[in-house]
Amino acid sequence: MQDRTIIINNTPIEKGQQTTIEFNVARLPTHTTIELPVYVYRAREEGPVLLLTATLHGDELNGMEIIRRMRVEQTIQPQRGTVIAIPILNIFGFLQNSRTFPGGKDLNRSFPGSQNGSLAQRVAYILIHEILPHVDFGIDFHTGGLNRSNYPQVRSVVTQEENRLLAQSFAAPFIVNSKLRDKSFRKEAEKRNKIILVYEGGEAMRFDEFAIQEGINGTLRVMEFLGMREGSPEANRTIWMKTSRWIRAGYGGIYHPLVHEGESVKKRQVIATITDPFGDFEYKVRTGESGHVIGLSHLPVVHKGDALIHLGVE
Ligand SMILES: [Zn+2]
Repeated sequence: MQDRTIIINNTPIEKGQQTTIEFNVARLPTHTTIELPVYVYRAREEGPVLLLTATLHGDELNGMEIIRRMRVEQTIQPQRGTVIAIPILNIFGFLQNSRTFPGGKDLNRSFPGSQNGSLAQRVAYILIHEILPHVDFGIDFHTGGLNRSNYPQVRSVVTQEENRLLAQSFAAPFIVNSKLRDKSFRKEAEKRNKIILVYEGGEAMRFDEFAIQEGINGTLRVMEFLGMREGSPEANRTIWMKTSRWIRAGYGGIYHPLVHEGESVKKRQVIATITDPFGDFEYKVRTGESGHVIGLSHLPVVHKGDALIHLGVE
């Protein structure tokens, strides 16, 4: 809850003000400077501060589009409190269609960061030291990896009540209980008593209209839950997943999924086949237990042990 002036990158932002702040994060070998734009929307009335971050992995684009549409449609402007939005956290990866920072650094394993460290650590440092102190809650938008798509879902440690309530207010089709990983943004935020929901929808390098729309709707529901706006789209009937696991290829070959993202599956159901490329053999892939397809690989050529279908278990 911020009543006073918010100061980010030496720029004061008063109630009722909206502004763009550009962090100078790096100077490339070509002298080109790289800036990280941060959009701040403060209502006149006080209320919570909600952080929206996207494209932490540079090839995960749906979240950037979620924030863009909310800006264009002006739904990002709260009636109470403040929204801080960072549409592209990994500018470097974004320009190169890459998940990581230069040198293969994963920003989500670089927290809490360092002022004099690698580029990823510097961006992590800005987020932790310049932005996070002002924030009460956050939504960090992700997608599945390359050729792997996730059905719209929120990930959170749902055994903690505040997390559970916030995840519930987002009301994505699925909520997946998910542990905190070392050096991740979510874990470092949690240490500072800030709750960050991770939203996952769609896949890397591709816009997924359903995942984008669910991301916008969920964010508006969170804003209503936090008292930042009135009215939001009708909630989904959420299915809660206690745990999740990948079903892996038992053989190398050509993988043919027989289910879609979001589908419910029964124990022992045939959910995919693995054939050879020429028509000589076909193996059936079955589930070990019933659950829901929360993520799915679309890559036909698989080796033994490759992740095929991500199964959420209630
Ligand atoms: Zn990601």
